Amino acid sequence: MGYFEMSKLALKWALTKPPTTRYPFEPRQPIAGSRGQIVFTKDNCVYCTVCAKKCPTGALVVNRAEKKWVIDRLRCINCGYCAEICPKKSLTMVEGHGSPAVTRDREFH
Ligand code: SF4
Ligand code: SF4
Repeated sequence: MGYFEMSKLALKWALTKPPTTRYPFEPRQPIAGSRGQIVFTKDNCVYCTVCAKKCPTGALVVNRAEKKWVIDRLRCINCGYCAEICPKKSLTMVEGHGSPAVTRDREFH
């Protein structure tokens, strides 16, 4: 490729909006039809442990005695099953993406 053609190409890309986004600095837009993410509402929860027993990936741990509900976001595949079966509607799927999880830290409630 000659110098002129290369300069033309470089100029074109310098003036064109990139096809990618600067995630995580720019929030990701929800994709139409995507499931979203699980949100836990502590007020209704009776710590029955049903969600933890049925979660296909073992992302949830519920401790009835200590009234603790814990999710490992890196394990969760956002299938929404726990939200479907929760008898108290403490779990819901909401549109959008959460903050990116970069460690195995769990979310305690
Ligand atoms: S199934 Fe619902 S009520 Fe039962 S522990 Fe899970 S979130 Fe709480
Ligand atoms: S959405 Fe699916 S994978 Fe995530 S916690 Fe609920 S049941 Fe488990």
